[in-house]
Amino acid sequence: MNPLDYEIQYLKGVGDFRAKLLSKLGINYISDLLEHFPRDYINRQAEVNISDLIVGENCAIIGTITSIENRALGRRNSQFNVLISDGNDFLLCTWFRYADWLTKKLEEGKKVWVSGIVNEFHGQFQLIHPEIEVLEDSTETNDFWHSRSVLPLYSLTDKINMNLMRKIIYNAFEKYHQYIKETLPEYILQQYQFEPRNISLQKIHFSANPQEVPKHKMRFAFEELFYTQLMLARTKTNHHKKQNGILFTLHKTYTTKLHKSLPFSMTNAQKKVIREIVEDMTNNSQMNRLLQGDVGSGKTIVTLFALLLAVENGHQAILMAPTELLAEQHYISIKNMLKNQPELKIGLLKGGNYKGKKLLKEQIAEGEIDIIIGTHALIQKDVNFKKIGLVAIDEQHRFGVEQRSILAANHHPDLLYLSATPIPRSLAMTVYGDLDVSVLDELPPGRKPIKTVWRSDNKRPEVYAEIRHQVIAGRQIYIVCPLIEESEKIDLLAAETLYENISNNIFPKYRSAILHGKMKTAEKDEIMNKFKNGEIDILVSTTVIEVGIDVANATVMIIEHAERFGLSQLHQLRGRVGRGSEKSYCYLIAHQPISAEGRERLAIMVQTNDGFAIAEKDLEIRGPGDFFGTAQSGMPGFKHANLVRDQELLRQARTIAFEIINKDFNLELPENVTLKENYFKNYHWREKLFEY
Ligand code: ADP
Ligand code: MG
Repeated sequence: MNPLDYEIQYLKGVGDFRAKLLSKLGINYISDLLEHFPRDYINRQAEVNISDLIVGENCAIIGTITSIENRALGRRNSQFNVLISDGNDFLLCTWFRYADWLTKKLEEGKKVWVSGIVNEFHGQFQLIHPEIEVLEDSTETNDFWHSRSVLPLYSLTDKINMNLMRKIIYNAFEKYHQYIKETLPEYILQQYQFEPRNISLQKIHFSANPQEVPKHKMRFAFEELFYTQLMLARTKTNHHKKQNGILFTLHKTYTTKLHKSLPFSMTNAQKKVIREIVEDMTNNSQMNRLLQGDVGSGKTIVTLFALLLAVENGHQAILMAPTELLAEQHYISIKNMLKNQPELKIGLLKGGNYKGKKLLKEQIAEGEIDIIIGTHALIQKDVNFKKIGLVAIDEQHRFGVEQRSILAANHHPDLLYLSATPIPRSLAMTVYGDLDVSVLDELPPGRKPIKTVWRSDNKRPEVYAEIRHQVIAGRQIYIVCPLIEESEKIDLLAAETLYENISNNIFPKYRSAILHGKMKTAEKDEIMNKFKNGEIDILVSTTVIEVGIDVANATVMIIEHAERFGLSQLHQLRGRVGRGSEKSYCYLIAHQPISAEGRERLAIMVQTNDGFAIAEKDLEIRGPGDFFGTAQSGMPGFKHANLVRDQELLRQARTIAFEIINKDFNLELPENVTLKENYFKNYHWREKLFEY
């Protein structure tokens, strides 16, 4: 065993207790410690004078504490002021919220490093909530760090202070640096001019020149992206190698009849994607394709085309949706699109017990049903199929990997995954990097963009006045209230109060209804169906309204507390309208105070209807950490790579990884010996998460 794989508790200065604390930072092994990179650096020699500071700019100053004032301004309101001098001038540091550790570690006369954005207060430079470091805390004079001019700043956790962290990391290096192994092959190091791994690690922690650090950090970002892509390249190749797909032939019976019966012509994007699907299905490797397209981009026809191609080859085709409502909607619209082909048998399989279900299951098992549409009911044990050729999964991210793979594992059909949530390319290349991706990046012609505005909540009466003529003209309205997770009660109250106001005071003559998560499924379905059938004019709802619900007559979407929603969610909600020929409107009602980020989101929504542009922005603002899909994807989290910043690096890493795997699937070539060792040790096990 390589000593870098030792648990940290055995390291000098750590032990059991501290090991638990460090674990909170994701540090469990010596190798984690070495990769716990500084978030910043202090330069003790930097000569910045307080008199040179500029208001509004970032600064880092070294000075001596001349006075400390801990002012309590009432129970919950206190203020901690620390005055720092560089010998000539003074800088005031102020905290309004602070923990004991801060007041404890600061004393008059101590030398400190502070950093933050410069403010001015009564003619004096001030930093509010600056970063602060005491510089002379070190107890041992033979401490490595004692004489260093540049000090790393690490992320910490409770009870592990900066000096301790520095000491632990230094100890780890001192004892184990000779075990640091190179993980990238020579040809990649050369291509990118990367330094050896051990040198880069040392520079990142102990460099006297922090400016050179980004160059060294880049190799770690590359390493993560590259190994992930190696894994994806292998899983993708595995799909093709292990499993022979079905060799469909484009007989053009049902497919062409569908094509001819359409009252419109396909968009270029639809044609392109259909070509890609036909290409996949008519060769003998298994199709594994993700079809991404914004709401309204016309995924259904494309999917139906694939279903029919399977059926005209004598196979059954399946379309699985995450909810009954969506399944029903697909069933109705597909039945409608195939009404000139009555020889095709279409079935809808739902959950629970109902009349006719048993018979339907028998017919499915006998192969009498060609196109089977349904919910999770399709993957229950007692449902058998005769001969599945194609499985399409709508809103695929709402199914777990295991659920998705049940049908695939038993029948090895071609697979088409659908997603109405546009995700940025860099994320798609990572989360769905083992799939082929088709994108419907064009809306059918004549679609009027949804006019979006944002208004302060005190302008709500004007919004109601503006939409009145829509209601009078017989159009339907959605009003969405947010879900605040901490307090479902308050949410409900907010939605209910709003609903009462709408139904009693604002639009008493019209039919309104409320929909929320606390209702029974049957109750919710009933209301949704009524809304679909035009029996409800105004629907006040929490965010439970279905993605993908298609009510062409709904032309207005009002979103309350819009400042609280993420961009992608706002876009999803807005997509409920603009589905018919009438012009549609989206009102984003924002409640003060609105954060700068909230304002940015609202402005983006007003500017664009393009789901992919919005997704890119969303990733940029939120970061990939909590972005949709990453958590349950089976992907390793990235410690060093950043999917916004490193998009170009990712593209390169992917290209190189796929080239390598195409040439040397098992990494057996001599030049790949480093790769082989590291890959099979650290990444190979994840491949099974991508088996289907
Ligand atoms: P998605 O599932 O991608 O949200 P749908 O497949 O439901 O979108 O299509 C939305 C609407 O657009 C449907 O009413 C469909 O009939 C219509 N549609 C699809 N393709 C075209 C096209 N090429 N031209 C005109 N209308 C189209
Ligand atoms: Mg194929």
